[in-house]
Amino acid sequence: MCRRCVLEETQVPCSALCRGMEDMDHLFFKCDYYGRLWLSILDWLGITIVSQGDVISHSTHFGGLGGFSRNSRTMFTIIWISVLFIIWKDLNMRIFNNQTDQLEVLAEKVKLQTYWWFKPHCIMFDFDYHSWRRQPLCCLQAVV
Ligand SMILES: [Zn+2]
Repeated sequence: MCRRCVLEETQVPCSALCRGMEDMDHLFFKCDYYGRLWLSILDWLGITIVSQGDVISHSTHFGGLGGFSRNSRTMFTIIWISVLFIIWKDLNMRIFNNQTDQLEVLAEKVKLQTYWWFKPHCIMFDFDYHSWRRQPLCCLQAVV
């Protein structure tokens, strides 16, 4: 519906052109396009789960993937936040610059970003980037 010639939020088509309607849950958790980024990251982590559809259940579920210790929850939550950040940045590139990265590039950005978030903040995270990129779950399990 058009109010004051502005489309209401529920009527805006998805910026990723997946044919869905754009809202926060759709963009970050239900979008066919960006959903493949989540699958890629889960595959990288060596974890198979069924994603939950809203921000609260998705964050709770993802944060608990490595177990329920405080460190594990923190590290998985950082990965979760990194995926959201990369999606958000890619959406802005689409909307404002009419550019986007391939999903493989987005996944590599998540891997690199999380590495640089963990490296200076976690004293036990003493891995080189190749180890992190190739065996993230082993690195996480060694730290938590
Ligand atoms: Zn979409």
